[in-house]
Amino acid sequence: MNLVLCDKDCLHQKDGYCKLKANAAPTGTPVGGCCYYCPKPAPKQKSRPR
Ligand code: SF4
Repeated sequence: MNLVLCDKDCLHQKDGYCKLKANAAPTGTPVGGCCYYCPKPAPKQKSRPR
């Protein structure tokens, strides 16, 4: 298994490493030199008690 260091805000990045499976399909949109980049969904806002 190859460990790829990555610090992008990507869905596949965890603890500074790429956790992408080898058979994943590329997104076709290279971002920062990676065509597998997939932006993380925005964190949900916690509702404040009223
Ligand atoms: S898919 Fe690309 S951008 Fe995403 S964590 Fe892996 S190396 Fe980084």
